[in-house]
Amino acid sequence: MSNLLSDRINSLPTSQTLAMAAKARELRAEGKDIIGLSLGEPDFNTPDFIKDAAIEAVNQNYNSYTPVDGYLELKEAICTKFKRDNNLDYKPNQIVVSTGAKQSIANVAQVLLNPGDEVILPTPYWVSYSAIATLCEAKFVEVQSTIENDFKITPDQLAAAITPKTKMIFFNSPNNPSGTIYSEEEYRALAEVLEKHPQIYVLSDEIYEHINYDAKPFSFGCIESMYDRTITVNGLAKAFAMTGWRIGYIGAPEWIAKACTKMQGQVTSGTNCIAQRAAITAVLAPVENIQYMVDEFRTRRDIIVGLLKDIDGFKVNIPTGAFYVFPDISSYFGKTIQGVTISNASDFALFLLEKANVATVTGEAFGFPNCIRISYAASEEQIREAISRIKTALG
Ligand code: GLU
Repeated sequence: MSNLLSDRINSLPTSQTLAMAAKARELRAEGKDIIGLSLGEPDFNTPDFIKDAAIEAVNQNYNSYTPVDGYLELKEAICTKFKRDNNLDYKPNQIVVSTGAKQSIANVAQVLLNPGDEVILPTPYWVSYSAIATLCEAKFVEVQSTIENDFKITPDQLAAAITPKTKMIFFNSPNNPSGTIYSEEEYRALAEVLEKHPQIYVLSDEIYEHINYDAKPFSFGCIESMYDRTITVNGLAKAFAMTGWRIGYIGAPEWIAKACTKMQGQVTSGTNCIAQRAAITAVLAPVENIQYMVDEFRTRRDIIVGLLKDIDGFKVNIPTGAFYVFPDISSYFGKTIQGVTISNASDFALFLLEKANVATVTGEAFGFPNCIRISYAASEEQIREAISRIKTALG
């Protein structure tokens, strides 16, 4: 029946992060003991102080439609957070709250991109960036990093990728899938290139900002020359263990925020009222309230990196943020193990799923076909067991 569907949906790839998670769920339902390291989802409970705020909102009868761009109290709280954590000055009319940062990004892309525009994606990039650009009939232009350079692109590479058609760059630090964090100096060097091209807008996805192990990440919009053309994206899913609550938001120039509100008003309206009330408490809470999760992620990062380094043929760098490792496993390409020929990262991820019962995500989905993404948002016991299974399966 695919011929009955639109070209738009037929040309859209399925989200590989979600597909792998669904596959793991399916195999588990069949009775297989699958360890899921595919999805970027904290395995913690949402903190009680946030749950209490939601319960209170239910009891206070918050049940009506909300303003399309979010409750004013929430937008004010987000402005406070932007100032406190990022030194960014936004007013409530520059904030739009959406159903997850994914919708925030989709809104921005829809309102800024025309067919044929080019979007620069430092590679590896999160799976949905390319798909969202494709939906807008824009062309995405990959700028390849290397594991040796900790998956960072250089200013020269950025300069070389820019054409008169370049409209946006999707920038993501801490990065999904590599865990890389750019330093302030590196941001400024990239901004220097962009300053010469005033037609380019920066979508700065900072959803992993609190999950960092060495230094607080910088924000693109803090660079004075970039503020007016930066859209800062953030959300509650990762730092507050609130993936299912679906709260994302942007801080942006007012005209972009207004356009996103118009778009959202036709597609989904204001996001869930209870989640928004709870979000007010979450964004205003001291960052120390969630430090226990970050500390735990750091311990797991150290464990998984140590274990992976011990496997022959895995090349691993040390990620400094988010909760992913992105090892290069290309040394296995062309080899046959347990009767399975591995030609690429997708074969490798499938091999791990079938022979080790461990779900990961192929690097191809992130525009980086030599690697696989392993999420360590799982218990220490699961991580140890998963890596031991991988090691055994690879012999
Ligand atoms: N962002 C998470 C991930 O990369 C959740 C799944 C998704 O939306 O892609 O695993």
